[in-house]
Amino acid sequence: MEWGMEVQLVDKWTLFPAFGKADPYTQTAYVRNDLPKSVQSFVAAHELYHLSDKTEWWLWREIKATLCIDWRHWKGLLLCVFMSMRVARLKFYATRLRLGK
Ligand SMILES: [Zn+2]
Repeated sequence: MEWGMEVQLVDKWTLFPAFGKADPYTQTAYVRNDLPKSVQSFVAAHELYHLSDKTEWWLWREIKATLCIDWRHWKGLLLCVFMSMRVARLKFYATRLRLGK
């Protein structure tokens, strides 16, 4: 995989409704294997950004990890936003906003 050892593709149901996950302890970014390639690239870049980011406030952390990555991922970002307009995803964000993390 072009992203290197620290990115692992995993089954949809290990992360659903999330698209990816960053594990700071193992320094590994997990990305769902069912997503389109452009979305996987965006999510991989996003999660890898999280691994080295020390921002405390989660919302600012998400904004940075979404906007401070390489612009070659713009297509994956747009598709990711489009794919997020679904009930399970919106509920997921609503829960994170409520819990503040
Ligand atoms: Zn994130």
